[in-house]
Amino acid sequence: MSAWNEVADRVYQRRYDPLDISVSVVVGDDDLLLVDTRYNPREAEEVRSDIAELSTLPIRWVANTHAHYDHSFGNQRFTDAEILGHHLLPKHFAEYEAPRLAGWAGIPSARPQHDWQGGLLTPPTTLMSSVQELDLGNRRVRFPPLAPGHTDTDLVVEITDAVTSLLSTVGTRSCRPPARLRRRLGG
Ligand SMILES: [Zn+2]
Repeated sequence: MSAWNEVADRVYQRRYDPLDISVSVVVGDDDLLLVDTRYNPREAEEVRSDIAELSTLPIRWVANTHAHYDHSFGNQRFTDAEILGHHLLPKHFAEYEAPRLAGWAGIPSARPQHDWQGGLLTPPTTLMSSVQELDLGNRRVRFPPLAPGHTDTDLVVEITDAVTSLLSTVGTRSCRPPARLRRRLGG
């Protein structure tokens, strides 16, 4: 059974099967930031339940590191938060992820290891085309959108005071970045 791992001061990561998905939570004095939401409503609810182990502060912010299903399809269970993402993410959803979800959900036997039931794409509500910052309460987080790499929707989460960045495109079984990016990142 997985558990939260404090990878930096009040920055927690938890890994989930299937697919060895990494989800992170940044804890401020006032609010929580959740980074990535897994891939269906049931998995998203599990994340929400697990976050209750960490803090009773509200999940006021959610960020998607990129548009792939295992990082963003759980957004639908966090619409009470402000969802942050790369400015091209809604376009990526419409052009790529929506047709893929429709195809996968329509033919369950094509990917029997996955559960697409109830999937509903929920794009971010705040779109980043340049570096933006938010304050979680005495804790600032920056969001530099990247040029096309793993996808055209990659967003870095920089926790300034912890000198830590979250970039969930690296090192998971489900979501390997292209070889040229792995070389650059050393992953
Ligand atoms: Zn990916």
